[in-house]
Amino acid sequence: MVLVKPPVKAEIGVIGGSGLYEIPGLQNIREYKIYTPYGMPSDNVVVGELKGRTIAFLPRHGRGHKIPPHRVNYRANIWALKSIGVKWIIAFSAVGSLREDYKPGDFVVPDQFIDMTKGIRPMTFFEGGVVAHVSMADPFCDHLREIIIDAAKEINGLTLHNKGTYICIEGPRFSTRAESRVWKEVFKADIIGMTLVPEINLACEAQICYATVAMITDYDVWAEKPVTAEEVIRVMNENTVKAKKLLPRIIEKIPEKPLEDKCSCCKSLETALV
Ligand SMILES: [Zn+2]
Repeated sequence: MVLVKPPVKAEIGVIGGSGLYEIPGLQNIREYKIYTPYGMPSDNVVVGELKGRTIAFLPRHGRGHKIPPHRVNYRANIWALKSIGVKWIIAFSAVGSLREDYKPGDFVVPDQFIDMTKGIRPMTFFEGGVVAHVSMADPFCDHLREIIIDAAKEINGLTLHNKGTYICIEGPRFSTRAESRVWKEVFKADIIGMTLVPEINLACEAQICYATVAMITDYDVWAEKPVTAEEVIRVMNENTVKAKKLLPRIIEKIPEKPLEDKCSCCKSLETALV
């Protein structure tokens, strides 16, 4: 197979989660089917201009939400964005809350994660030949996190928590009550989702600055607060509206290039290769 790079460059990648399937206001929209050594990404990559920057948008689950979390081709997604020059990834994701004070409708910019996936997801680009152990001590791009936290202050009615530990479970099933209590009380995690890992590992290996905007839809099952599907959908729709307001504010604050004194994402392989 001959891999042909699409004739396009984009600086900023946006990965859309549940609820976010398009970017409003994107100009000069083009769509590319990008072939990667790992197969096809979740969907065509949509490229366009917003706030004078070139953005590449990829819905993590595909348009129409067709791909479950454990079946997302994370390697193809990250490879596709890297192949067109993306240096920053803003990843949106719907999550459950493990804390009373992180309420449905609030957003979180996590600073840590715990990986409780079951290992059926390919986790790395380095399968042998070259061996890499990438540092994950501080997995998110601190600079991009700072930019998101700043941008959120400009959005009326948005409560954003500026840190949190995201526990990533395998899915597609939700946690049992016993599991949910372990995540909350033993692991001290703050939010729970199914898609951060290995997306973040791969972004790190690709030396891309990566941060997550986690949008809380409901309390996880520990809270014993049964919610209806209608309620979850209502919160998710409101979250999508807030995410669409927040995104342009984030984009206008992102510098031309990652700043070496602000983060070390772009150098993540310097000490990782064995
Ligand atoms: Zn960075």
